[in-house]
Amino acid sequence: MPSSLKAVDINKLPRQLFIGGEWVDGIDGATISVTNPFDNSEICRIAEARAADVDRAVAAARAAFPAWAAVPASERARLMHKLCEKMESCFDELAELETIDTGHPIKDTRFLDVPRTLLNFRYFAGMADKIDGRQVPVESGFLNVVKRQPVGVVGQIVPWNFPLMFCSWKLGPALAAGNTVVMKPSEITPLSTLRLAEMMHEVGFPAGVVNIVPGYGEHAGQRLAEHPDVNKISFTGSTVTGRKIIAASADNLKRVSLELGGKGPNIVFEDAVIPASVGGSAFAIFHNQGQACIAGSRLLLHESIADDFLDKFITLAESIRLGDPLDPATEMGPLTSPMHQQRVLNYLQVCRDEGNRILTGGQAPQTPGLETGNFLQPTIVEAKLGDRVFSEEVFGPFVSVTRFSDEAEAIALANATEYGLGSGLWTTNLARAHRVADAIEAGMVWVNCYKRVHPGSPFGGVGQSGFGRDLGSECLHEYTEPKSIWINYDAQIPPYYPR
Ligand code: NAD
Repeated sequence: MPSSLKAVDINKLPRQLFIGGEWVDGIDGATISVTNPFDNSEICRIAEARAADVDRAVAAARAAFPAWAAVPASERARLMHKLCEKMESCFDELAELETIDTGHPIKDTRFLDVPRTLLNFRYFAGMADKIDGRQVPVESGFLNVVKRQPVGVVGQIVPWNFPLMFCSWKLGPALAAGNTVVMKPSEITPLSTLRLAEMMHEVGFPAGVVNIVPGYGEHAGQRLAEHPDVNKISFTGSTVTGRKIIAASADNLKRVSLELGGKGPNIVFEDAVIPASVGGSAFAIFHNQGQACIAGSRLLLHESIADDFLDKFITLAESIRLGDPLDPATEMGPLTSPMHQQRVLNYLQVCRDEGNRILTGGQAPQTPGLETGNFLQPTIVEAKLGDRVFSEEVFGPFVSVTRFSDEAEAIALANATEYGLGSGLWTTNLARAHRVADAIEAGMVWVNCYKRVHPGSPFGGVGQSGFGRDLGSECLHEYTEPKSIWINYDAQIPPYYPR
């Protein structure tokens, strides 16, 4: 049994769709069971959005768009700051809610998910009145200005691994730039998004500016991606779904940005500081049960330090405290669902079939009290170039280890998957740090650290990890359309057709 709740009142949680400023049931009355991954008990049932509900939400967002785009940027910022104040006053509740819905240890939701959500919203509130255009030095007598205008109605589809934080990544810049939004949270973890919508309503966001339609991908997600009146889709999720999003969005040629899967290489060179690289590499893969697109899930070790590194790394992995996510001492919670747990466990057989050794973990823990949750021991396996466990995203506390003999081989191994999202390297050689960072084909490289993310720094990938960026000033370009305006204030234009 999970610990008792201190801040969340389950009976008061919003459970309907949020459309046009109102809480409504789905048109056909369907519902979704939302469960706690610690024991797979039902937390509550919520309304499920189907295609017709998405249509209603898009219509509400379209109706709200002209007025919202005309709201002064400073006022949009003020509302976002007000939202942050509201969230801060409900800090404990949000942390606890995210913990029971996702399985993130409360230690993490208190120190990462909720504070980072606030940081991101505040950053984009601050950016709202700084989205300026430019003036191009064209021929004399003409003024050419490039304005950045909102793209219109934005559809946002997000996964289950960081639901609250993704609200700030997606809603923050979209709203700052003057767009209206229809967001589809994951059917697995919709609760904090619905609660956030309630807070937005309370602090005065106009009706229709943000609409929340929890539902399944093949119904609500598909409709949002294909909807003819949606101007842009911002998607975070798997590469397989990303391809479907592109196909669905083709008809009205909407703008698309895709944040997809990853198989992050994490290289430890022979000159690395071993204790720091051991701790950092453990955080890179085991934080959030490895359910992170940027997880350092491929450990590449120089052969001269591999044994020493692995001794320490395995000892650390085996000491990670699995437990009730509501217990402040817990360092690792359960995976999001029994289905996902099984998917990760299946990779153990793949690993054996490929002739690789499991160095530690590989099983659901036998600890009393954890047997009803979707737990998996921190798992470290050997892998060779070309193995499935070397190249496929497992999305669990599962890291593969491959040895290399020199820098060129390390770079070749790092680049030997179809993905290119997060990556890391550990070295005390400054020249090597720059050289290897340049050579890794990825959207993000961390040197002597891992998984650093800041709202000012662009987040996204290359190759099968997608295109476009969340965060940074770069993402504001994703949510605005440049418009070039020419004004003749004093130019004498010779006639093209002299008569
Ligand atoms: P998923 O692709 O199954 O689902 C993501 C979202 O898409 C969910 O809301 C789902 O309901 C929706 N969806 C599913 N099918 C759809 C369809 N046909 N049309 C429209 N929407 C559809 O991914 P997931 O299992 O929820 O999340 C894990 C994946 O997300 C991993 O691959 C992970 O790497 C990736 N991810 C990427 C980033 C990033 O920033 N690059 C961040 C987090 C997670």
